[in-house]
Amino acid sequence: MKDVAYIALGSNLGQREVFLAQARRAIAALADTRVLGQTDAEETAAIGPIAQGPFLNQMVAIETELSPQDLLAALHRIEADAGRIRTTRWAPRTLDLDIVLFEKQSVREAGLTVPHPELSNRDFWLRELAALRSARVG
Ligand code: ATP
Ligand code: CA
Ligand code: CA
Repeated sequence: MKDVAYIALGSNLGQREVFLAQARRAIAALADTRVLGQTDAEETAAIGPIAQGPFLNQMVAIETELSPQDLLAALHRIEADAGRIRTTRWAPRTLDLDIVLFEKQSVREAGLTVPHPELSNRDFWLRELAALRSARVG
């Protein structure tokens, strides 16, 4: 089903701008997917119990035929290509790609919740989402 999805990109380890650019290119190259828009990258403090450097964040809107599950699998591959090593949750990472929202679909499974459960708690996501949506309508 063709749908619009919003992906949050984040990096707080190494060459953050390079990892975000690499992620944008990889997302644009996904099958049956086109990029509708992107926000400017912005810096935010890391969330969670582990002291670490600030994140560079950005949100990308896509139109895609991929299911939420297939999109998540593709995003995990892109993270791995950026050299992300999964240690513990909230650990510093070269690249973190989260599915924030699909316009028409929601998912509640063990490995995937859409909309992302933290959406309402992350002001910068709400702001970025609003910016992308208003850019699309008008
Ligand atoms: P947060 O999700 O609170 O931002 P995080 O990004 O640090 O934390 P990760 O370690 O990257 O968490 O991801 C843990 C797991 O979350 C992933 O393996 C994935 O299966 C699952 N997950 C559930 N819902 C989503 C979603 N909407 N987008 C991305 N991953 C999700
Ligand atoms: Ca995250
Ligand atoms: Ca994640």
